[in-house]
Amino acid sequence: MIWDPVYGGMDLSQGMVVYTDWRPFLDFVYYITNFLMWPVYQLAALINGMLHLKYSYGMPTADLMQHMASEMAKHSFLKDKVAAFDTPFFKQAMVGYLDFLAIPATVLFRLFEPLLDLVVETFKNLFWNILIEFSFTKRKEATYQDALGQRAADLMKLKVEYKNLSKEANILAQSVITDELTKVYNKRFFIEKMTYEFKMAKDKKKILSMCMVDIDHFKKLNDNYGHLVGDKVLKAVAQVAKGATPADCFCCRFGGEEFAIIMPLKDVEEAHAIISKIHSSLPLLRFDNDANLRTAASFGLCVADFSAERAQELKGFEDLIKVADDLLYKAKLNGRNRIEVEHLT
Ligand code: GH3
Ligand code: MG
Ligand code: MG
Repeated sequence: MIWDPVYGGMDLSQGMVVYTDWRPFLDFVYYITNFLMWPVYQLAALINGMLHLKYSYGMPTADLMQHMASEMAKHSFLKDKVAAFDTPFFKQAMVGYLDFLAIPATVLFRLFEPLLDLVVETFKNLFWNILIEFSFTKRKEATYQDALGQRAADLMKLKVEYKNLSKEANILAQSVITDELTKVYNKRFFIEKMTYEFKMAKDKKKILSMCMVDIDHFKKLNDNYGHLVGDKVLKAVAQVAKGATPADCFCCRFGGEEFAIIMPLKDVEEAHAIISKIHSSLPLLRFDNDANLRTAASFGLCVADFSAERAQELKGFEDLIKVADDLLYKAKLNGRNRIEVEHLT
């Protein structure tokens, strides 16, 4: 018996792999078969032996019986039983009986012995093979199912981990470009976006509009109502600006109470419409049911059409910001709560 750590026992004498869990049962079947067949074999051997002695060496059956009886009588546990049959009458009867039976029995046995062997051997092998195949298939199936289940569970775990990680990565990436208080894009994003959009517009000779927004008298609002209310107003203004900004434009907090709105490819009418919407909405905002608490902003809108010479004079996006800033200053000077526009064509 060779022991395999996975498959159990391998019985080379049987030429088959036998699994540990089936082995005792198969042994049991084997012994039961042998046990049941034992008397048949013994009887056949007995008859065969007698015939051999009688016909080959001329030993009479009666002497043979006598010899056998004395041989058996040597075994103490059989003594009483043998003695019971050790009578002349019984011997005589047995001789007749054996003589009568011996020849046909031997002939039959000799005839059918190979067939019997074949049948027994065939059924035994068949039975064993079925058991082994059944055991093997089930075991293999169970092993694969286990492995498959484990893999599926691992995969699910990985999927969940991946989902959580990408969610976290998204949140992180979003937070890097989002202003914490107002939830619009932050200055980092503004600089990156402006750098890109300015280059694109200048290279392709397209329009780039940009507007600087500054809340009017915000310091006074802070002084009168406190910084927490100031924050609330700042958030509300940002939401209005964000809400009015189309999906292909970008509302950013430039710093303090200033916002910058980047409007790639928007011409002067389109850009003005967007900014006007914010401008007109802000005074309508109400806070804490206080009718006196209102807000407004000034706007410096610069529309640079890079297909024209004036816009091409802008060297970098900082120049565009400078123009918008100057316009904002002009709006403040001109009484605040207004839009100043410059169209660089
Ligand atoms: P102007 O109309 O000329 O723009 O006047 P202003 O008072 O709005 O301008 P100023 O630059 O004098 O004041 C801006 C104020 O904005 C000062 C600062 O305390 C306030 N501020 C900047 N950032 C925040 C913020 O995050 N929260 C609050 N509550 N206030 C802020
Ligand atoms: Mg300001
Ligand atoms: Mg201000």
